[in-house]
Amino acid sequence: MKQKSAEILCIGTELLMGNTVNTNATYIAKGLAQNGINVYHQAVVGDNPQRLKESLDLAFSRSDIVITTGGLGPTYDDLSKETIAAWFGKELVLHEESLRHIEDFFQRLGREMTDNNRKQAMMPQDCTVFPNPNGTAPGCAIEKDGKVAFMLPGPPREMRPMFDNYVIPYLQKDSDTILVSKMIHLFGIGESMLEHKLHDIMVESSNPTLAPYAKEGEVQLRVTARVHRDEDAEAILQPMMNKVSEIAGEFIYGIDIGDLQTAAVTRLKEKGLHVATAESCTGGYVSKRLVDVDGVSEVFDCGVCSYSNDIKEKVLGVSHDTLVAYGAVSEQTAREMAAGVRRLSGAEIGVSTTGIAGPGGGSPEKPVGLVYVAVDSDKYSEVLKLNIPSRSDDAREYIRYIASSNALHLIWKAAGFLD
Ligand code: AMP
Ligand code: MG
Repeated sequence: MKQKSAEILCIGTELLMGNTVNTNATYIAKGLAQNGINVYHQAVVGDNPQRLKESLDLAFSRSDIVITTGGLGPTYDDLSKETIAAWFGKELVLHEESLRHIEDFFQRLGREMTDNNRKQAMMPQDCTVFPNPNGTAPGCAIEKDGKVAFMLPGPPREMRPMFDNYVIPYLQKDSDTILVSKMIHLFGIGESMLEHKLHDIMVESSNPTLAPYAKEGEVQLRVTARVHRDEDAEAILQPMMNKVSEIAGEFIYGIDIGDLQTAAVTRLKEKGLHVATAESCTGGYVSKRLVDVDGVSEVFDCGVCSYSNDIKEKVLGVSHDTLVAYGAVSEQTAREMAAGVRRLSGAEIGVSTTGIAGPGGGSPEKPVGLVYVAVDSDKYSEVLKLNIPSRSDDAREYIRYIASSNALHLIWKAAGFLD
């Protein structure tokens, strides 16, 4: 059977004018890719019925599935449903259940429902209605002659769950195979080096496939297999996971773990360990990312934002001589900061950052992007000297982010040595 392809069509003049970032397209495109549905085109069109009709003509001339977002609201410029229903030769009819949902929604808010809200319960004849628990506008699927249009609301918090809970299952309902995947998270290796190491297996494998995704300072590898519904997906994925482990195992910090902070906190929790941070150039970024993880209070003792030399000495106990002899941005200071905050807190692991985030403050000996990141614990202590490249648009942010990633990775690593 010919593989069907989908096109994403986002509707809204605000997108066209550049006032709203088209995050819906990104979300849908990723979701379709993860489910093995090809996307060859994306488009944006304003709230204009004639141009929307032209976009539909074009989209359906080359794709079987068109997913639209936006224009389902109650106001006069929300014309998606009328136009798309007309394209399929369908009338709009009142969908009682949706009307009741909209009435309930307003009642719960204690707000009066205006007449134009009824419009949102008018749905194309013979469509499949998707309820919207996060708003008023329902979505729907409408189908004819092998072509299907999905209409989803514009607000991302309404669109995303509807896409995940209704569109994906709808697209998969006739398929006896599903895609299953695992994400391998790596740190400390660049995407091109990783591709180089894995090139042969990437090219040779078709089921499962192996695809790299570069994230800020990290790489992820997605292993994806297409399996029959009753097949053991694990058995198909595992040999590939093992191969990747053999080749790049030293860089892997987790499978399906999300991010570095989650990996660090999870490991600390598993082992009943605690961490404390002493941050200079990252100014709390490491703490912030730790605290992003739910339940971190079990493992995070304290974060000292020790920006001045005075506080490095007074609070963390960094020696005056060290600061004078080597400076605040030095291996020695980083080491003493990590040990100091560990002493201060009683945590099993202390971590520190000190460096030059720029754009000012660099020198030939200590250029912008020079950062020391240290970890201190009973069984594993280390200081990393990083030279983080400046990127023109947001160098200061990037340097601090990469430094914080290294600190989180060191926490994860140190916890591996402790019981
Ligand atoms: P609408 O359903 O067209 O009335 O859209 C409602 C709101 O959703 C808009 O004002 C935007 O803030 C947001 N929105 C619409 N389309 C998108 C999109 N493609 N990406 C992100 N946000 C969107
Ligand atoms: Mg709109």
